[in-house]
Amino acid sequence: MPENEATTSQFAPSGSSFQSDCCIVGGGPGGMVLALLLVRQGVRVTVLEAHEDFDRKFRGDTIHPSVLEIFEQIGLSDALLELQHSKIFGPTLRAANTSFNPFDLRRLHTTFPFIMLVPQSRFLDFVARQAGKYEEFDLRFSSKVESLIEENGRICGVCYMGRDGLHEVKAPLVVGADGRFSTVRERAGLVPIKTSPPMDILWFELPHLPGDEASDRVLGGFAMGRVLAVFDRFDHWQVGYVFPKGTYQQVRAEGLESLRKSIAAIEPRFTQHVEALTDWHQLSLLSVEASRCPKWYLPGLLLIGDAAHVMSPIGGVGINYAIQDAVATANILSEHLKARNTSPQDLASVQRRREFPTKLIQRFQTIMQKRVLAPALASTAPTSIPLTVRLLFAIPIIRDLPARLLAFGFRREHVRSIGRSPTGSVMAGASGLANQTKRYR
Ligand SMILES: Cc1cc2nc3c(=O)[nH]c(=O)nc-3n(C[C@H](O)[C@H](O)[C@H](O)COP(=O)(O)OP(=O)(O)OC[C@H]3O[C@@H](n4cnc5c(N)ncnc54)[C@H](O)[C@@H]3O)c2cc1C
Repeated sequence: MPENEATTSQFAPSGSSFQSDCCIVGGGPGGMVLALLLVRQGVRVTVLEAHEDFDRKFRGDTIHPSVLEIFEQIGLSDALLELQHSKIFGPTLRAANTSFNPFDLRRLHTTFPFIMLVPQSRFLDFVARQAGKYEEFDLRFSSKVESLIEENGRICGVCYMGRDGLHEVKAPLVVGADGRFSTVRERAGLVPIKTSPPMDILWFELPHLPGDEASDRVLGGFAMGRVLAVFDRFDHWQVGYVFPKGTYQQVRAEGLESLRKSIAAIEPRFTQHVEALTDWHQLSLLSVEASRCPKWYLPGLLLIGDAAHVMSPIGGVGINYAIQDAVATANILSEHLKARNTSPQDLASVQRRREFPTKLIQRFQTIMQKRVLAPALASTAPTSIPLTVRLLFAIPIIRDLPARLLAFGFRREHVRSIGRSPTGSVMAGASGLANQTKRYR
């Protein structure tokens, strides 16, 4: 089946108004995984996605061990791992004095001791194809939600701009999974508070060159007040270049040649690759600021993922946390959604379940940003990794802590509810399907 054609509406007319059991705004990792879990329960779900497909430039590509475990619990991990991907066992950090592997995921007790690196568009398309096997699933691309519908103090639907004009979806629950610039959050008047200072990142691609296949899939390094993070996307390298907040004009004034030299200084292997950077239009400036909403819900409405809490890029945990929110939401709400009686107390339970692990990881990210990233960005000398740090990370229990945090976050959710296969037979939840003896490499 061609990408993104798996799942267009079967039960909704293209008229101006239709009904669903749950309307999810945003087809990112949080919204799509929630949709998959709910349709497995027999809940009719409509997903409204503003873009015309899943292809997006500013997306992460990481599928963490805890997410792979979730897919194992619903019997889809083998199929997911059939997608072309690479595996990360741990980052390689380059500094002036050494190349350093702070941790190794292969030391963890899990069926999936690695991060799966797959272009997010392919991951989302996979989820959409799985969800599309259930007749309850209705995905609408090019459907940008513009406003909420409220009746008697309760949100009961949304208005969206589709390809052919304005429509509305009525549903007992609207889930705002529309990311860090969430329209749903804004229209609901739920205001996030900042949890860490903003970071400026230049985001761009470098070409793959012969010989790249043999190199590490994820690289990171720092030197002279700049930090580099590089991901292999098979046909190109995705690069994030971090520099001190508010100094973009200075970076521009120094010119492209200076930028190319700075990248090659951190990662000498890219000396040739950076020649491809010939125009500032090839680079996008992102300002990423972590935040969290004090309240994630209103009667008839729930926020999950980045809409509820924008994660800092440190550690690349945003996708994992959005998906963990989705699992908690399905676990807590699916029976209520089937009975069409989701109360504010049920929505509060979702926030209670997910707020604490979110607070903890954001606190950890803030500490890393202030204690590790900020000093690295402030230093204009070649940055070294102190011997004490290298010795500390030689102690297994210390070495495994960041690995555990990265792999699982602070609270691993498990798919609890019984689900149906697309053919209607009943499938087990977490305890039934997890294969504890298998270990992928
Ligand atoms: C440059 C960059 C790199 C990143 N790298 C990583 C990484 O490597 N690993 C990691 O874990 N995290 C990474 N993140 C963070 C990660 O992308 C997010 O935390 C994660 O995608 C959040 O998932 P989500 O489903 O909550 O929201 P999103 O992925 O943001 O999805 C929201 C969806 O809602 C849609 N939408 C928005 N508004 C509307 C509307 N009005 N109507 C309908 N649809 C709408 C959007 O088009 C989008 O598809 C990165 C973020 C950035 C910016």
